Amino acid sequence: MIVDTTQSQTRHISGAAADPDAPAWRTTVIVVMEEGAPESHIEHVTEYLVRNGVKIHRVDGTTRTVLGLIGDVTSLDRSLIESFDGVYEVVKVSEPFKLANRKFKPEGTVIQLDEVRIGGDEVIVMAGPCSAENEEQVFSTAAAVKRAGAKILRGGAFKPRSSPYSFQGLGEAGLRLLRTAANEHNLKLISEVMDVSQIDLLEKYADILQVGARNMQNYTLLRELGHASKPVLLKRGISATIEEWLLSAEYILAGGNRDVILCERGIRTFESYLRNTLDISAIPVVKKLSHLPIVADPSHGTGRRDKVVPMARAAIAAGADGLLIEVHCDPDRALSDGAQSLYPAQFDELMAEIRNIAPAIGRSICVEPVARRGWAR
Ligand code: PEP
Ligand code: MN
Repeated sequence: MIVDTTQSQTRHISGAAADPDAPAWRTTVIVVMEEGAPESHIEHVTEYLVRNGVKIHRVDGTTRTVLGLIGDVTSLDRSLIESFDGVYEVVKVSEPFKLANRKFKPEGTVIQLDEVRIGGDEVIVMAGPCSAENEEQVFSTAAAVKRAGAKILRGGAFKPRSSPYSFQGLGEAGLRLLRTAANEHNLKLISEVMDVSQIDLLEKYADILQVGARNMQNYTLLRELGHASKPVLLKRGISATIEEWLLSAEYILAGGNRDVILCERGIRTFESYLRNTLDISAIPVVKKLSHLPIVADPSHGTGRRDKVVPMARAAIAAGADGLLIEVHCDPDRALSDGAQSLYPAQFDELMAEIRNIAPAIGRSICVEPVARRGWAR
């Protein structure tokens, strides 16, 4: 079951021109209440606003309530609102993304999959092969990433390949293997959905649906995922600005699915030494702009396994909520992305390093020391 453990609740309160489904993305002004403001203060402000004909999209966080104002706000007296008891501040939301905006929801979103919490204090690592290839490969890689401390198994069954002649994935057979391996090792599963027609299938097998970089602007797909029953991990497009990326997240949020994880996976720049340029600075930028969790994918971000480890370290130090890492039990024989896939022993070492980095910035990582479990390198 998916629970937003911030306990945030949203609801609409209609004014004169009543429309209970007023779209929150039209909000341009928000009223932020003081921490712990009593309901009577919130109600007083709400009554004033409703009396003046605006509709309200209310978000109750664990400590603060935020009222999003929808409609014509020109006749409202800002200083009067700010003088009401319990009002912390009145903020104009000038950014085009609203539901993804941290101004709208000051507390970070935490996505909970049973005991796995993405966006909380703990850094969460998702790891596994680029593609599911066969039973032996999926099971031995899943065992290796579990031993090293990953909480989520990654693996593609539908692969977006640059060449139509490259391996395209095993389809449902691949999903079945991944699901069985994930269950065997008590791992959650993330896998890519490439097309609207695959959503039902992916929802059946995976715990998180991945939208690949090439599909970040597939608005038909994003709209449909707004109605999905599973969280969505949205990768940054190959040439997307942060604002375009957050607007893509907005499509999913606006459809009603509030469980969106962002993933920085490198962008195309003039630099051609590596496959992509992992934009580490996007992590603190997104953290400031949005309440959504963000993870980093240094595998696609660099394309070279010797660069994955240092960039993974940097991403955690920069405040990422987790990592998405390609690991393969036999990368030299991988059917996709072998050059960027870590050997299990390298992944093991990376996890050991993150165990040192995370506490230095006030994060935790729940990994037992490798030696205690006798994991041979
Ligand atoms: C992947 O995760 O294997 C993948 C295809 O990623 P991206 O969409 O970032 O290229
Ligand atoms: Mn890949």
